[in-house]
Amino acid sequence: MLAHLAEGILVVADRQTSGRGRLGRAWHSPPGCNVYMSIAFLPAISQRKSPLLSLAAGLSSALAIKAVTGLDVRLKWPNDLLAGKSKKLGGILLETRSGPGRTQVSVAGIGINVNIPKESFPADIARTATSVFAETGEMADRNALIAAVCREFGYWLSVLRKEGEKGVQKLLKAYTGISDTIGRKVKIKAGEMEFEGTAAGIDQEGMLLMKLPGARQLKRVPAGEVQSLRAARR
Ligand code: ATP
Repeated sequence: MLAHLAEGILVVADRQTSGRGRLGRAWHSPPGCNVYMSIAFLPAISQRKSPLLSLAAGLSSALAIKAVTGLDVRLKWPNDLLAGKSKKLGGILLETRSGPGRTQVSVAGIGINVNIPKESFPADIARTATSVFAETGEMADRNALIAAVCREFGYWLSVLRKEGEKGVQKLLKAYTGISDTIGRKVKIKAGEMEFEGTAAGIDQEGMLLMKLPGARQLKRVPAGEVQSLRAARR
């Protein structure tokens, strides 16, 4: 089984009964319209860099959606896919666990709102969520999307694995190019702390670099500690 994981194992669901996002948050996953896919694989990169896998999964999904549907997708650090008026089109959940021996096994869970009509979102996310169909007015082929995500993700994984620091820079450049976060004033809640500043960039370990008022050094924010990131009021 683990030998196959070097290439990756793909699991696709038509619906999810307990779809979830980060921090145990629920992911609305009705049948017959969206993409819910998980790719299990051996990360084969240093643990220090594993947060980059989540960025790679987000970037891959965004590029795949753009290629298949023409829709412009932007990335909200760390794990959201946005479209239209910064509404949530999809989410990424990257988890890594220890396998047999000292192997690490990662699973990239990807949920994309594809053909769900606007009116079908439950009330609590009706104003914040969107779908490919809601944005383009056209139904998209879910299988084509899934195949494109796998192709992109395979490519970015190999860039990270084979090209060392150059690969990391290549990934960050592509990610930053479609980021909805970098260059913005944002407010972050992390544990007991709350801070506001400008999102200045992402470092080689996938951490957000924040310029805080009065501080000379950039603050590094690990994705795992962030409960929420919102646009700050101007
Ligand atoms: P936030 O969206 O508040 O920044 P998050 O990005 O950390 O939180 P995720 O784990 O990515 O959260 O996603 C879970 C959240 O997304 C839920 O709490 C809900 O608000 C919203 N949500 C749930 N299902 C969907 C869906 N199908 N489409 C868009 N948004 C959804």
